[in-house]
Amino acid sequence: MVMTDSPSPACPIKGCTDTSWYADACDIEYHTSERTYAIHKCGRCDVLFIAPMLWDRLGEIYPKNYYSYAPAKKGLVQRLKEALDRRLFEKLLASIPGEKLSVLDIGGGSGWLLDQVKACSPRVSFTQCVDLDEGAQAEAVARGHAYHLGAIEEFETDRRFDLILALNLIEHVRDPAHVLRRIAELLTPHGRALLKTPNFDALDARLFRHRSWAGYHTPRHFVLFNRESFIDLAERNGLAVTTFSYTQGAPFWSVSVLDAMRRLGLVEISAQRPAIYHPLTPLLQAGFAAFDFARAPFAPLSQMVFTLGRRADRRMQEGS
Ligand SMILES: [Zn+2]
Repeated sequence: MVMTDSPSPACPIKGCTDTSWYADACDIEYHTSERTYAIHKCGRCDVLFIAPMLWDRLGEIYPKNYYSYAPAKKGLVQRLKEALDRRLFEKLLASIPGEKLSVLDIGGGSGWLLDQVKACSPRVSFTQCVDLDEGAQAEAVARGHAYHLGAIEEFETDRRFDLILALNLIEHVRDPAHVLRRIAELLTPHGRALLKTPNFDALDARLFRHRSWAGYHTPRHFVLFNRESFIDLAERNGLAVTTFSYTQGAPFWSVSVLDAMRRLGLVEISAQRPAIYHPLTPLLQAGFAAFDFARAPFAPLSQMVFTLGRRADRRMQEGS
Protein backbone atom coordinates (compact mmCIF):
# COMPACT_ATOMS: atom_id res chain seq x y z
CA MET A 1 0.00 0.00 0.00
CA VAL A 2 3.02 2.34 -0.01
CA MET A 3 2.12 5.08 -2.48
CA THR A 4 5.56 6.53 -3.09
CA ASP A 5 9.02 5.23 -3.86
CA SER A 6 10.55 6.96 -0.86
CA PRO A 7 10.83 4.93 2.34
CA SER A 8 8.32 5.57 5.13
CA PRO A 9 9.51 8.16 7.66
CA ALA A 10 10.66 7.11 11.14
CA CYS A 11 8.06 7.11 13.89
CA PRO A 12 8.16 10.09 16.28
CA ILE A 13 7.79 7.92 19.40
CA LYS A 14 10.85 5.67 19.27
CA GLY A 15 12.27 6.33 15.84
CA CYS A 16 11.06 2.95 14.51
CA THR A 17 11.85 2.64 10.81
CA ASP A 18 9.40 -0.15 9.89
CA THR A 19 6.44 2.22 9.49
CA SER A 20 3.84 2.06 6.71
CA TRP A 21 1.59 4.42 4.77
CA TYR A 22 -1.92 4.57 6.23
CA ALA A 23 -3.84 7.29 4.37
CA ASP A 24 -3.55 10.57 2.49
CA ALA A 25 -5.28 13.62 3.93
CA CYS A 26 -5.81 17.35 3.38
CA ASP A 27 -6.94 20.23 5.56
CA ILE A 28 -10.72 19.83 5.18
CA GLU A 29 -11.44 22.11 8.11
CA TYR A 30 -9.65 25.42 7.45
CA HIS A 31 -8.19 24.78 3.96
CA THR A 32 -4.91 26.44 4.98
CA SER A 33 -3.48 24.83 1.83
CA GLU A 34 -4.70 22.33 -0.75
CA ARG A 35 -1.63 20.17 -0.21
CA THR A 36 -1.94 16.44 0.53
CA TYR A 37 -0.16 14.96 3.54
CA ALA A 38 0.62 11.31 4.18
CA ILE A 39 -0.52 9.72 7.42
CA HIS A 40 1.75 6.84 8.46
CA LYS A 41 1.32 4.13 11.03
CA CYS A 42 3.93 2.66 13.35
CA GLY A 43 2.76 -0.88 13.96
CA ARG A 44 5.20 -1.31 16.80
CA CYS A 45 4.04 1.78 18.77
CA ASP A 46 0.47 1.56 17.38
CA VAL A 47 0.32 5.27 16.55
CA LEU A 48 -0.50 7.33 13.47
CA PHE A 49 1.68 10.28 12.51
CA ILE A 50 1.78 12.88 9.77
CA ALA A 51 4.54 13.49 7.26
CA PRO A 52 5.85 16.06 6.80
CA MET A 53 5.42 17.29 10.37
CA LEU A 54 5.44 21.08 10.08
CA TRP A 55 6.41 21.86 13.68
CA ASP A 56 8.58 24.80 12.54
CA ARG A 57 5.78 26.38 10.48
CA LEU A 58 3.01 26.78 13.05
CA GLY A 59 2.17 30.26 11.76
CA GLU A 60 1.14 28.72 8.43
CA ILE A 61 -0.79 25.71 9.67
CA TYR A 62 -2.77 27.52 12.42
CA PRO A 63 -5.01 30.05 10.69
CA LYS A 64 -5.96 33.38 12.28
CA ASN A 65 -9.54 32.16 12.78
CA TYR A 66 -8.48 28.93 14.56
CA TYR A 67 -11.20 27.83 16.98
CA SER A 68 -9.18 27.97 20.18
CA TYR A 69 -8.36 31.65 19.49
CA ALA A 70 -11.95 32.64 18.84
CA PRO A 71 -14.39 33.61 21.60
CA ALA A 72 -16.36 30.58 22.74
CA LYS A 73 -19.80 30.31 21.16
CA LYS A 74 -22.40 29.22 23.68
CA GLY A 75 -24.51 26.80 21.68
CA LEU A 76 -26.39 23.94 23.32
CA VAL A 77 -23.49 21.49 22.87
CA GLN A 78 -21.00 24.04 24.22
CA ARG A 79 -23.12 24.67 27.33
CA LEU A 80 -23.58 20.93 27.91
CA LYS A 81 -19.84 20.40 27.50
CA GLU A 82 -19.06 23.11 30.02
CA ALA A 83 -21.47 21.60 32.54
CA LEU A 84 -19.83 18.19 32.09
CA ASP A 85 -16.33 19.70 32.33
CA ARG A 86 -17.30 21.42 35.55
CA ARG A 87 -18.58 18.20 37.10
CA LEU A 88 -15.35 16.48 36.06
CA PHE A 89 -13.20 19.26 37.58
CA GLU A 90 -15.18 19.17 40.84
CA LYS A 91 -14.71 15.42 41.14
CA LEU A 92 -11.02 15.63 40.30
CA LEU A 93 -10.29 18.50 42.69
CA ALA A 94 -12.13 16.65 45.49
CA SER A 95 -9.73 13.71 45.03
CA ILE A 96 -6.60 15.89 45.46
CA PRO A 97 -5.48 16.65 49.03
CA GLY A 98 -4.17 20.05 50.17
CA GLU A 99 -5.50 23.39 51.43
CA LYS A 100 -4.14 25.37 48.51
CA LEU A 101 -3.99 23.97 45.02
CA SER A 102 -1.94 25.05 42.00
CA VAL A 103 -3.36 24.39 38.56
CA LEU A 104 -1.55 24.46 35.21
CA ASP A 105 -3.26 24.51 31.81
CA ILE A 106 -0.92 23.58 28.96
CA GLY A 107 -2.18 25.17 25.75
CA GLY A 108 -4.70 27.05 27.88
CA GLY A 109 -4.95 30.13 25.62
CA SER A 110 -6.71 33.01 27.35
CA GLY A 111 -7.36 30.94 30.48
CA TRP A 112 -11.10 30.37 30.02
CA LEU A 113 -10.79 26.78 31.29
CA LEU A 114 -8.76 27.89 34.32
CA ASP A 115 -11.60 30.33 35.11
CA GLN A 116 -13.93 27.33 35.30
CA VAL A 117 -11.54 25.33 37.48
CA LYS A 118 -11.15 28.30 39.84
CA ALA A 119 -14.93 28.60 40.12
CA CYS A 120 -15.14 24.92 41.17
CA SER A 121 -13.16 25.22 44.39
CA PRO A 122 -11.95 28.01 46.70
CA ARG A 123 -8.85 25.86 47.33
CA VAL A 124 -7.50 26.76 43.87
CA SER A 125 -5.05 29.51 44.78
CA PHE A 126 -2.64 29.66 41.83
CA THR A 127 -3.34 29.23 38.14
CA GLN A 128 -0.76 29.07 35.37
CA CYS A 129 -1.16 29.07 31.57
CA VAL A 130 1.55 27.85 29.22
CA ASP A 131 0.79 28.61 25.59
CA LEU A 132 2.43 29.65 22.33
CA ASP A 133 -0.29 32.23 21.65
CA GLU A 134 1.06 35.76 22.12
CA GLY A 135 -2.38 37.26 21.57
CA ALA A 136 -3.90 35.40 24.53
CA GLN A 137 -1.33 36.54 27.09
CA ALA A 138 -2.85 39.91 28.07
CA GLU A 139 -6.32 38.40 28.47
CA ALA A 140 -5.05 35.51 30.62
CA VAL A 141 -3.09 37.88 32.86
CA ALA A 142 -6.11 40.19 33.18
CA ARG A 143 -8.08 37.18 34.40
CA GLY A 144 -5.52 36.60 37.14
CA HIS A 145 -3.55 33.73 35.63
CA ALA A 146 0.23 33.52 35.41
CA TYR A 147 1.27 33.14 31.77
CA HIS A 148 4.33 31.59 30.19
CA LEU A 149 4.65 32.36 26.48
CA GLY A 150 6.37 29.34 24.97
CA ALA A 151 6.38 25.57 24.76
CA ILE A 152 5.88 23.35 27.81
CA GLU A 153 9.21 21.66 27.08
CA GLU A 154 10.97 24.98 27.79
CA PHE A 155 8.83 26.07 30.76
CA GLU A 156 11.17 26.34 33.77
CA THR A 157 9.70 26.61 37.26
CA ASP A 158 10.33 25.36 40.81
CA ARG A 159 6.59 25.13 41.37
CA ARG A 160 4.78 21.78 41.27
CA PHE A 161 1.14 21.50 40.27
CA ASP A 162 -1.76 19.65 41.91
CA LEU A 163 -3.76 19.62 38.70
CA ILE A 164 -2.41 19.81 35.15
CA LEU A 165 -4.77 20.19 32.20
CA ALA A 166 -3.58 19.00 28.80
CA LEU A 167 -6.77 18.93 26.76
CA ASN A 168 -6.32 18.25 23.06
CA LEU A 169 -2.64 19.06 23.34
CA ILE A 170 -0.52 15.92 23.11
CA GLU A 171 -1.57 15.21 19.50
CA HIS A 172 -0.25 18.67 18.51
CA VAL A 173 3.34 18.22 19.70
CA ARG A 174 6.26 16.68 17.80
CA ASP A 175 7.60 14.68 20.75
CA PRO A 176 4.69 13.45 22.92
CA ALA A 177 7.01 11.36 25.15
CA HIS A 178 8.97 14.48 26.10
CA VAL A 179 5.80 16.39 27.00
CA LEU A 180 4.50 13.47 29.11
CA ARG A 181 7.81 13.34 31.00
CA ARG A 182 7.55 17.08 31.63
CA ILE A 183 3.98 16.61 32.96
CA ALA A 184 5.22 13.87 35.32
CA GLU A 185 7.99 16.17 36.58
CA LEU A 186 5.62 19.09 37.15
CA LEU A 187 3.03 17.09 39.14
CA THR A 188 2.96 17.02 42.94
CA PRO A 189 3.14 13.48 44.41
CA HIS A 190 -0.67 13.37 44.82
CA GLY A 191 -1.41 15.56 41.82
CA ARG A 192 -3.48 14.61 38.80
CA ALA A 193 -3.20 15.39 35.11
CA LEU A 194 -6.33 15.50 32.95
CA LEU A 195 -5.55 14.72 29.34
CA LYS A 196 -7.82 14.48 26.31
CA THR A 197 -6.74 13.22 22.89
CA PRO A 198 -8.35 11.65 19.78
CA ASN A 199 -8.69 7.89 19.33
CA PHE A 200 -8.04 6.54 15.83
CA ASP A 201 -9.71 3.20 16.69
CA ALA A 202 -13.23 4.59 16.39
CA LEU A 203 -16.14 4.27 13.94
CA ASP A 204 -15.79 7.75 12.41
CA ALA A 205 -12.01 7.25 12.05
CA ARG A 206 -12.63 4.02 10.11
CA LEU A 207 -15.45 5.40 7.93
CA PHE A 208 -13.44 8.49 6.95
CA ARG A 209 -9.98 6.92 6.95
CA HIS A 210 -9.45 7.74 3.26
CA ARG A 211 -11.60 10.87 3.33
CA SER A 212 -9.34 13.10 5.47
CA TRP A 213 -11.05 12.11 8.75
CA ALA A 214 -11.36 15.33 10.77
CA GLY A 215 -9.61 13.66 13.72
CA TYR A 216 -6.39 13.86 11.66
CA HIS A 217 -6.97 17.64 11.83
CA THR A 218 -4.50 17.77 8.93
CA PRO A 219 -1.82 19.11 9.22
CA ARG A 220 -2.16 20.20 12.88
CA HIS A 221 -2.32 16.79 14.58
CA PHE A 222 1.16 15.26 14.53
CA VAL A 223 0.61 11.99 16.44
CA LEU A 224 -2.58 10.02 17.15
CA PHE A 225 -3.09 7.22 19.66
CA ASN A 226 -5.58 4.60 20.67
CA ARG A 227 -6.31 3.65 24.26
CA GLU A 228 -3.56 1.04 24.57
CA SER A 229 -0.82 2.95 22.79
CA PHE A 230 -1.43 6.07 24.86
CA ILE A 231 -1.41 4.16 28.17
CA ASP A 232 1.82 2.44 27.15
CA LEU A 233 3.55 5.73 26.32
CA ALA A 234 2.31 7.44 29.51
CA GLU A 235 3.55 4.57 31.67
CA ARG A 236 6.95 4.59 30.04
CA ASN A 237 7.28 8.30 30.82
CA GLY A 238 6.62 8.40 34.54
CA LEU A 239 2.82 8.48 34.63
CA ALA A 240 0.13 6.03 35.74
CA VAL A 241 -3.40 6.10 34.37
CA THR A 242 -5.95 6.42 37.20
CA THR A 243 -9.18 6.75 35.19
CA PHE A 244 -10.12 6.39 31.55
CA SER A 245 -13.25 7.11 29.49
CA TYR A 246 -14.26 7.73 25.91
CA THR A 247 -16.16 10.87 25.10
CA GLN A 248 -18.15 12.15 22.13
CA GLY A 249 -16.32 13.02 18.94
CA ALA A 250 -19.05 15.23 17.48
CA PRO A 251 -16.60 17.84 16.09
CA PHE A 252 -14.82 15.10 14.08
CA TRP A 253 -18.09 13.67 12.78
CA SER A 254 -19.40 17.08 11.91
CA VAL A 255 -16.34 18.31 9.96
CA SER A 256 -15.98 14.95 8.18
CA VAL A 257 -19.65 14.94 7.10
CA LEU A 258 -19.50 18.58 5.97
CA ASP A 259 -16.48 17.72 3.81
CA ALA A 260 -18.38 14.80 2.25
CA MET A 261 -21.21 17.26 1.48
CA ARG A 262 -18.69 19.71 0.01
CA ARG A 263 -17.42 16.98 -2.32
CA LEU A 264 -21.01 16.49 -3.49
CA GLY A 265 -21.30 20.23 -4.13
CA LEU A 266 -23.92 20.68 -1.40
CA VAL A 267 -22.03 23.12 0.81
CA GLU A 268 -19.14 25.54 0.43
CA ILE A 269 -16.20 25.08 2.79
CA SER A 270 -13.06 27.14 2.19
CA ALA A 271 -10.33 29.13 3.95
CA GLN A 272 -12.81 32.02 4.10
CA ARG A 273 -15.67 29.78 5.26
CA PRO A 274 -14.11 27.10 7.50
CA ALA A 275 -16.20 24.11 8.58
CA ILE A 276 -16.40 25.18 12.21
CA TYR A 277 -18.34 28.36 11.28
CA HIS A 278 -20.75 26.68 8.83
CA PRO A 279 -24.41 27.20 9.81
CA LEU A 280 -25.02 23.41 9.76
CA THR A 281 -22.25 22.81 12.32
CA PRO A 282 -24.31 23.31 15.54
CA LEU A 283 -27.01 20.95 14.23
CA LEU A 284 -24.54 18.27 13.11
CA GLN A 285 -22.63 18.52 16.38
CA ALA A 286 -25.78 18.14 18.48
CA GLY A 287 -26.89 15.12 16.43
CA PHE A 288 -23.54 13.33 16.55
CA ALA A 289 -23.00 14.13 20.24
CA ALA A 290 -26.34 12.41 20.94
CA PHE A 291 -25.39 9.48 18.67
CA ASP A 292 -22.02 9.05 20.41
CA PHE A 293 -23.46 9.33 23.94
CA ALA A 294 -26.06 6.70 23.06
CA ARG A 295 -23.47 4.16 21.90
CA ALA A 296 -20.80 5.07 24.48
CA PRO A 297 -21.52 2.01 26.67
CA PHE A 298 -20.88 -0.34 23.73
CA ALA A 299 -18.28 1.20 21.44
CA PRO A 300 -15.00 3.12 21.55
CA LEU A 301 -15.55 6.79 20.65
CA SER A 302 -13.12 9.11 18.89
CA GLN A 303 -12.06 11.15 21.92
CA MET A 304 -10.36 9.74 25.02
CA VAL A 305 -10.10 11.26 28.49
CA PHE A 306 -7.39 10.10 30.89
CA THR A 307 -6.56 11.13 34.42
CA LEU A 308 -2.97 10.42 35.32
CA GLY A 309 -0.80 10.53 38.41
CA ARG A 310 2.91 10.10 38.89
CA ARG A 311 4.09 6.51 38.86
CA ALA A 312 4.80 5.17 42.36
CA ASP A 313 8.16 3.69 41.35
CA ARG A 314 9.26 7.06 40.01
CA ARG A 315 8.31 8.71 43.32
CA MET A 316 10.44 6.18 45.15
CA GLN A 317 13.37 6.84 42.85
CA GLU A 318 13.15 10.53 43.67
CA GLY A 319 12.83 9.77 47.39
CA SER A 320 9.72 11.90 47.92
ZN1 LIG B 1 7.34 3.32 16.65
